[in-house]
Amino acid sequence: MISSAVKLRHLVLLGGGHAHIGVLRMLGMHPEPDLKVTLVSPSRETPYSGLLPGVVGGHSPEQDLYIDLGRLCQFAGADLVLATATAIDPGGSEIELRNRPNLAYDYLSIDVGIEPALTDLAEFDEALVSVKPIAGFMARFNLVYEQYRGGGAFAIVGAGAAGLELAFALNHRLGIKAEKNGLPKPVLYLCQAAAELLPEAPPRLRAKAKNALAAQGIQFRPQFRAVRQGAGQLASASGAVLEVDQVFWATGAAPQAFLQNSDLAGTPSGYIAVNAQLQSVSHPNVFAVGDAADMVEQARPKAGVYAVRQAPILFKNLVRMHRGQSLIRFKPQQRVLSLISLGEQTALGYKGPFWASGRSLWRLKRRIDYKFLDSFKNLPLMTPPSVSNGEALDPNMQCRGCGAKVASSILSEVLSELDPDGGRVLDDSAVLIPPAGELMIQSVDAFRPIIDDPYVLAKIAVVHAVSDIYAMGGRVGPIMVNLTLPYGSESITRSLLQQVMAGVLSQTKAEGGQLVGGHTAEGLELNITVSVTGWAPPDDIRTSRGTQLDDHLVLTKALGTGTLFAASMRGQAAPSWISHAVAMMLQS
Ligand SMILES: Cc1cc2nc3c(=O)[nH]c(=O)nc-3n(C[C@H](O)[C@H](O)[C@H](O)COP(=O)(O)OP(=O)(O)OC[C@H]3O[C@@H](n4cnc5c(N)ncnc54)[C@H](O)[C@@H]3O)c2cc1C
Repeated sequence: MISSAVKLRHLVLLGGGHAHIGVLRMLGMHPEPDLKVTLVSPSRETPYSGLLPGVVGGHSPEQDLYIDLGRLCQFAGADLVLATATAIDPGGSEIELRNRPNLAYDYLSIDVGIEPALTDLAEFDEALVSVKPIAGFMARFNLVYEQYRGGGAFAIVGAGAAGLELAFALNHRLGIKAEKNGLPKPVLYLCQAAAELLPEAPPRLRAKAKNALAAQGIQFRPQFRAVRQGAGQLASASGAVLEVDQVFWATGAAPQAFLQNSDLAGTPSGYIAVNAQLQSVSHPNVFAVGDAADMVEQARPKAGVYAVRQAPILFKNLVRMHRGQSLIRFKPQQRVLSLISLGEQTALGYKGPFWASGRSLWRLKRRIDYKFLDSFKNLPLMTPPSVSNGEALDPNMQCRGCGAKVASSILSEVLSELDPDGGRVLDDSAVLIPPAGELMIQSVDAFRPIIDDPYVLAKIAVVHAVSDIYAMGGRVGPIMVNLTLPYGSESITRSLLQQVMAGVLSQTKAEGGQLVGGHTAEGLELNITVSVTGWAPPDDIRTSRGTQLDDHLVLTKALGTGTLFAASMRGQAAPSWISHAVAMMLQS
C-alpha cells in the first residue's frame, strides 16, 4: 500500500526482472523509510525462467512459474504502477509510460531484460513463437498444447542452454500426449547456426547432450541459420528446408529499442553501459542490471543467474546513493553452475571443466529453482517501520500554512502542464450556470489507497463518484476533488500530484464532466475525495426510495471487490483476481 512515512527521494525500479524482485524483497526486510519506491511493470506477475522447461515439460504447474509483484511491492512498501515504459529522459529524470503520464525519479534502476532479435529472418508468420517474453510464450504454448493431438513437426531455433532444455521439455510433453491419443510422437528439430553444441561446455558433456538428443529422437541440425519461416516451412541460409507446423524461437537477444533510443550511454551492441557499481557510465543516478545492461569492466554472458546475484549489490548501492555514501563493486563469478534438464527427470550440469549428469542433478536443479521461488512466495513477517508524521522534515521543504495545504504553485503548474486548455478560472469558488429547467444532483465519495497506483486509483475514485449520479438518472457536470497527499519533498509531491491529477482529468473527460476546483493538503496517506454535480430533468430522477418486494435489481458490476482487496492485504489473493477487480472498478 502507499506508505505513510515521509518520503524525501523517489526510486523508480523499471521492470520486474530477476534483480529487482531481489531488491524489493530486501527493501521489505530493511526498509528505507524516507525513500519512496515505485516498481513499473507491464504485468502484476513476473515469470522465473529457470522453471520454464519444468512447466513446459509438465513437471511443474504453470502457477509455480510466476512471482506476484503486487504482494512483493506490498511487502516492500513500494507502489506498483502497471505500465510499459516507452522512453527514458535521463536529463529530465523522467520515464515516459504508454497511455499515462510521465513518471519522475530521483534514482532509476532498469531491469527490463531483452527483446527477441528476429533480424535474421527475412519473413515469418504467426506459426513463429518467441520464447521471450515468457508470459507471451506461455500463452501461445498453452494454445499449441491444447490443440495438439499427435504427430506433426516442430522446430526450436537456438540450441543454447535455453533452447536445448526447451527441446527436451517439448519432446517429453508432446510425446506423452501423442502416445495417450494412440498417435505418433512429433518430429522435433533443434536448429542452430553454429557448428558445435554448447561450445563453452566440456567436450564429454557435449557428447552426452548429443547422445541424449539422439536417444529421444530429437533431430539436431547444426549450421542451420534460419533465414525464412512461413507457410509451414523453415528455411536455412544454405537452402535446407524443414516442413514444420510451429517454430519456437529461442535465440538472438536484442536490447529494447526504447533503451537504445535514450541518452543513456550504451555499448556497441546497444545495451546500457554500466560500471562495476552497476551504475550507468553516463548518468550516475541511473543503474541498470540483468540482460538489459553490459558491465563494461567485467563482461559476462546474458543469464538470469547474474541478474539474481546483482540484486544484493544493487540494493546496497541504491540505499548508499540515497544516504550519500560511497558505492560498492559487484564482483561476478568467473564460472557459474549450468544445469540443463533433459525432459525426463534427469539433467546435465557443468561448471568450467567439471561436469556430471543424472537424476540427482535434476533434483538439485528443482531444489534450487523452488528455493528461489519460495523466497518470494513465502515472505517473512516483518514489523512495520515506525511512521514519521512529517514534523522532522526541513521546514523549508513544505508549505505548512493553510492547514498543511500543498503549495498552490505546484498545483497550478501541474494542472497547466496536464490540461493547458482546461479553461479553469482559479478563484475562491467555482461559479456554475445550471442548465435551464433541470435539477441538480450531488454526490461525494472518498477513496483510501486500496491499490498502489495513484493514476489508476484516481480514475477509480472518479468512476465511483459519478456512478451515484448515473444511478439517479443524471448526467455528469462539474467535479471537485479534495486530495490528501502523503508528506514528502517537493519533487515527490509534484510527481504524485501529476499522477493523481492525470487520472482525475482523464476520467473526468471520459465521463463528460468538467473539473472546476478542489483542495489539496498533506497528511499521513493518500486520500482522494471526489464531489460530483449532475443534472437531470425533474421527471427523470430515479431514487432508491420506494423499492418494493419483487422489484428487479440490476447489478452492473460483480459484488465482492472489498473482499478481494481485504484478501490481497493479507497476501491471499491471486494476482489475476486483483487485475480483474481493478479492471471492473475502472468500468464506468
Ligand atoms: C527457457 C529459458 C530458460 C532459461 N533458464 C535459465 C537458467 O536456468 N539460468 C539462467 O541463468 N538463465 C536462464 N535463462 C535466461 C534468463 O531468462 C535471462 O537471462 C533472465 O530472464 C534475465 O533477467 P532480467 O532480470 O534481465 O530480465 P527478465 O527476467 O526478462 O525481466 C524483465 C522484466 O522487465 C519487464 N519489462 C520489459 N519491458 C518493459 C518495459 N518497457 N517497461 C516496464 N517493464 C518492462 C518484463 O515484464 C519483465 O518482468 C533462461 C531463458 C529461457 C528463455
